Amino acid sequence: MIATKGYAAHNATTDPTPWNFEHRDPGPNDVLLDILFCGICHSDIHQARNEWGNAMFPMVPGHEIVGKVAAVGSAVTKFKVGDSAAIGCMVDSCRTCPSCKAGEEQYCENFATVFTYNSKDKQGNLTFGGYANHIVADEAFVLKVPGSLDLAAAAPLLCAGITTYSPLKHFGAGPGKKVGIIGLGGLGHMGLKFSHAFGAKTVQFTTSPSKIEDAKKLGADEVILTKEADWTKNHIHSFDFILDCVAAPHDVNPYLSLLKRDGVYCTVGVPETPLSIQAFSVLGRKHVTGSMIGGIKETQEMLDFCGQHNIVSDIEMTSFTKLSEAWTRVVKADVKYRFVLDCKAL
Ligand code: NAP
Ligand code: ZN
Ligand code: ZN
Repeated sequence: MIATKGYAAHNATTDPTPWNFEHRDPGPNDVLLDILFCGICHSDIHQARNEWGNAMFPMVPGHEIVGKVAAVGSAVTKFKVGDSAAIGCMVDSCRTCPSCKAGEEQYCENFATVFTYNSKDKQGNLTFGGYANHIVADEAFVLKVPGSLDLAAAAPLLCAGITTYSPLKHFGAGPGKKVGIIGLGGLGHMGLKFSHAFGAKTVQFTTSPSKIEDAKKLGADEVILTKEADWTKNHIHSFDFILDCVAAPHDVNPYLSLLKRDGVYCTVGVPETPLSIQAFSVLGRKHVTGSMIGGIKETQEMLDFCGQHNIVSDIEMTSFTKLSEAWTRVVKADVKYRFVLDCKAL
């Protein structure tokens, strides 16, 4: 077994504390990663605090993982010791259903997606994530990181990156389209970068006056402060696509009024309370949908796109000793724009 040091939450009310645990020895298809960096996603907080009602303890959060390959199983072909490699939100799935075969393992129709943490693997063991110094996973779920990218700043691509890249591509963000991104947090700032890179006219919605200038630098053609009166006035019926990246309950009806006929509102944010949609908000043949991370094939495509276009996350490095402070600041929307943990220090 691989002795591992990490940080685990043991209940829904206490932030993670140091915890020693074990990963399986690498099997023939497995890769052992020495974790260098792990991003802090708002989903880590939702789950550890049981805001989605699905918490399994002890929980070692973290699914924006970048590291170096320390060992490979005998049948591994994609990686060798010393390579940079990454793991995102999933480490296995049924691999046989139509969604898995289509490379959309996150939508596994047998509900057999094994998430990187707060999930059970095929043997029924709890999975443990990237707030740690090691992880073991099947190479089919391990990604290659383009050599040109800064490894710490690349870590958030594994969740915030793919979760915004995938719906923006799927719903056709590109030249001639007007796209809105709601919330300039970890996901939102990646969505803004991708929408801009895809060539869409991109409008950032934010509740934070202090983020307006940043949003323009990150690629926004226009920034709308949703705390101002009449903020919807000049944009009614003008958007093709709006991506909601907000972690807290908020009124989505004003955003629906901004969509064109047949326009699409897609949430990737998962607040703990249900969305409340007035029927009148969608009668203009509006589409309301959601999207979950992205498949392994598309995650590699996204990483390669980032390598070609030099796209990474804007990060603030932090440490495990400041984890509680970092989580508090994430909840207050006070991070520009993703915390990354230095896992080498463990
Ligand atoms: P985050 O960094 O905390 O960003 C959320 C942003 O939402 C904040 O920066 C803030 O932006 C805005 N916001 C916060 N409170 C708000 C409020 N009361 N009203 C309006 N806006 C508010 O979170 P994240 O890591 O990007 O994650 C965002 C959400 O996506 C979370 O719910 C997370 O669990 C979910 N998620 C989903 C998937 C998926 O597969 N679908 C994957 C990863 C994460 P402004 O300051 O600009 O207003
Ligand atoms: Zn995440
Ligand atoms: Zn499946």
